Formats: sequence, structure tokens, C-alpha cells
Amino acid sequence: MTPLLRSIPSDPELPAKADVVVIGAGIIGASAAFSLAERGLSVALLEKGLVGAEQSSRNWGWCRRQNRDERELPLSGVAMDLWDEIAAKIGEDVGFRRCGLFYATDNPQQLAEWEQWQTTARKFDVNTRMLSPKEAHESVPAQGRRWLGGVHSVDDGKGEPAIAAPTIASGARKFGATIHQNCAARGLDVVNGAVAGVITEKGTIRTQAVLNAGGAWASMFSRPYGVIFPQASVRQTAVRTVPTVDVGDALYTPECSLTRRLDGSYTFAVSGRATLDLTPQGMRYARWFMPMFLKRLKAVQVGVSTSMFRGPEALARWTMQETSPFERMRILDPAPSKRTIAAMLKGVHDQFPALAGVTIADSWGSYVDCTPDAVPVISAVDRVRGFYLAAGGSGRGFGIGPGIGRLAADLVANDKPCVDPTPFRLSRFFDGSKVNVGAL
Ligand SMILES: Cc1cc2nc3c(=O)[nH]c(=O)nc-3n(C[C@H](O)[C@H](O)[C@H](O)COP(=O)(O)OP(=O)(O)OC[C@H]3O[C@@H](n4cnc5c(N)ncnc54)[C@H](O)[C@@H]3O)c2cc1C
Repeated sequence: MTPLLRSIPSDPELPAKADVVVIGAGIIGASAAFSLAERGLSVALLEKGLVGAEQSSRNWGWCRRQNRDERELPLSGVAMDLWDEIAAKIGEDVGFRRCGLFYATDNPQQLAEWEQWQTTARKFDVNTRMLSPKEAHESVPAQGRRWLGGVHSVDDGKGEPAIAAPTIASGARKFGATIHQNCAARGLDVVNGAVAGVITEKGTIRTQAVLNAGGAWASMFSRPYGVIFPQASVRQTAVRTVPTVDVGDALYTPECSLTRRLDGSYTFAVSGRATLDLTPQGMRYARWFMPMFLKRLKAVQVGVSTSMFRGPEALARWTMQETSPFERMRILDPAPSKRTIAAMLKGVHDQFPALAGVTIADSWGSYVDCTPDAVPVISAVDRVRGFYLAAGGSGRGFGIGPGIGRLAADLVANDKPCVDPTPFRLSRFFDGSKVNVGAL
């Protein structure tokens, strides 16, 4: 569990009706609720556990345009602007800081990929520059390493995962949205092929528009309506230290990444290291995902966890009258990998001796929900009128989350989309388009 998560109250009453019901209050659902409420629509935001308690509070907090896939770059620009603006609109700090991100490597292939990405950066006006070996050493002063070079993504930054989604959800409430925690959506009321309501464990809300922003659970929720959303999750691990000495805001090395939190503690993690748990859903969609996992993950362990039987990728059937899988697991809280923690702490201690004795306050696991091309789905669902999907952050959905929420809100409200939504359509997996695995 990530105990620093900001706790916000729920609204006492479930509304009888709403213009839009948003299912899932991670960074995407909270941002979509904010954007919809801001434009004057009545919104009910449903969360089966606590706002922000799954992926959105468990990540490193990097908000970046650096190294993104071209398809995401216009939307990531929108997201960075929203991060800049949202605190003023809400009247509260969401923890976002444009501190710049520093990457260093001694791997020639990785350096070549970063160099190649500079062409993309120029095309989309991303403020980033390659670092010489000397500059990389000055920016990422790791002991015993001879960096070949690095990258400084100048305008990128970090958010504060423990407060971002709850604070944005609270902001949505200031514009009239209602928030309902410990309130799972069990399913949809569909009449003549169109949404007529959402059935929750606490009653039904009449509505003609539903946004499924259920993170790792989005595919399972959609399946009973004949909606195929190829989604797979990998388990990642991170740790948090107590407040400690400052060695930099956001540093990447091949062995560890370090992100300084607002209270002066660090989040440590290792990029590309994950456990692929065997699950029924994973097996169903395996052929879609192999290219992506092979390209993106440097070190994959194969494992079995409770997700095989109870989590978002388990086999499950439920009726609207009985406890659903979403209620049976209020917060998806997988065990962290001891092996990964040992590797990351070695990476930190070897390279940053100033942090060698730091006390570890906490460690956690989290499932990262991915799409086959590592680009999110932000889309109307053709099979059910009024049903929309916004999920598949693929390990980098926090930084772009406000943008995903904004575009989803544009689609739901039938307003002019802030960017071309075509690359994010669900139908790309079925209309014969080639599935290009996104950039790292
Ligand atoms: C270790 C780690 C590091 C990461 N680092 C970064 C990073 O540095 N930068 C970055 O951009 N991204 C990063 N990510 C990815 C990022 O965290 C996710 O892409 C993003 O948080 C996804 O947001 P979400 O709102 O889609 O999902 P979530 O935050 O998982 O929210 C979905 C919510 O929906 C709720 N829900 C599901 N089903 C129902 C239902 N039926 N009824 C009601 N509620 C429901 C869930 O309880 C959950 O709270 C990282 C992820 C991990 C795990």
C-alpha cells in the first residue's frame, strides 16, 4: 500500500441521474471528471476503492514528452499545459514541478535511440538536448560509471502521485461533480444498444454517457457487452525512502531511477524490470502482446499471483444483483518483488553513496495496464452507444493523464477534440491497421 495517499471524502448520496458517469478515479478518471464538470455537465465519479489508490499513486511521477511515441506527442503537449494550469483552477497544489529530467547511460544502443529521438523532438518542438559524457556526469553524478552521454529533457517534470488524482477529483467537485468511493460500478443498463444507466453496488444512476476509466479493470468491465479491449498488465515494484539528502530531482540510469518527492523523500525504481503474471486474460490476448513485451521490457520474470484467480485478469462472471469482482478487490495491491528491490537498492547504493544508508519507508507492487501498441485507448465504443473507454496508459499514463482525461471528455461531450483522436481509437486493433509498438 502507498500510505501517503491523500484521503478525500465521498459525497453522501448517489445521484439518481447524471449527464456523465465516470468509472474509476485514477488520474485519467479524475481528470476527465474535472474537464466534464468544468464545462457545466453533471458528473458522478465512481471509485470501487479510494481515489488514486491503484496505479496513479504508485508510479514514479515522471511527466514527460521525452521518448514518447509520435502518436502521443500532441496529446502530451496538451497534458503538460493542463498540469501547468490545473493548480490555479483548483486553488490547490497538485504537486507538479517542471524540474527537467536527466537520463544517463553507458549503453551505446540506448544512447543511439535517444539521439534518434531528437528528430522526433524537433518535429514536435520538444525542448530536449543530448548531453556529452562530461555533462551527463555532472547531471547524473553516479560513482564508478563512465557515461557515454545522456539527455536533459528541459521542459519535462514530475508530479506528486500521492496527491494528484485526489486533488484533481476534489477540483472536479468544486465544479459540481460528486465523488463516490467504495462504490463499484457492477455494470451497464443497456437499452436498444445504448447506455441508459450504470448499476453500482449502491444503486443505479440514470445516464446516457459512461466513461470507463477503470485502469487495469477496464477490459473486464467492458467484456459482458461484447467489447473486446486487448489489455494486459505487468507487475512492477517501487520503494519510497524517508526524507533524505538531495542528489537531484529526477534521474535515470540503467540500474535505477530516482525521483525526489515534495517532502524530500525519494521514489526508487528500475525501468523496464517487471513480472508478467500468468492470467486467463493474459493468455487470451497473449499473441497481441508478445511484440510489445519483447521490445519494452529488459528483464521480465514470469510469475503467478492472486490476479490469476481474483484480479482484473481472472475469469469472472457476475450478475448485477451480486458482489462483483470489483468489490471483491477494492484496491489492487500486489506484492512487490524482493528480487527487484534488491537489484534497485544495489543500483542506488553503488552509484549514489550519499543514499547508501537511507531508510526505506515503504515498498509496493502495482499492475501497469498496457495496450498492444503501448498507446492508450481513448475512444467511443462502437457496440454500445454512449459508452466510452479511456485506459491503457502502458506505463506512462500519469504524465499524459490530464490530457487523456481532457480528450475523453471532449469525445463524451461531443465537443471539438483537443487533438486528433484517430490514433487512440479502439477499432485500430480490429480494422486491419498494423500494430506498431510505441516508443520507449
Ligand atoms: C511502478 C510504476 C511506475 C510508473 N511510472 C510512471 C511515470 O513515471 N510516469 C507516467 O506517466 N506513468 C507512470 N506509470 C503509469 C501510470 O501510473 C499509469 O499509466 C496511470 O496511473 C494510469 O491511470 P488510470 O487512471 O488509467 O488507472 P488507475 O490509477 O489504476 O485508476 C483506475 C481506477 O479505476 C478503479 N476502478 C476499476 N474498475 C472499477 C469499477 N468497476 N468501479 C469503480 N472503480 C473502478 C480502480 O479502483 C482504480 O482506482 C507507472 C506505473 C507504475 C505501476
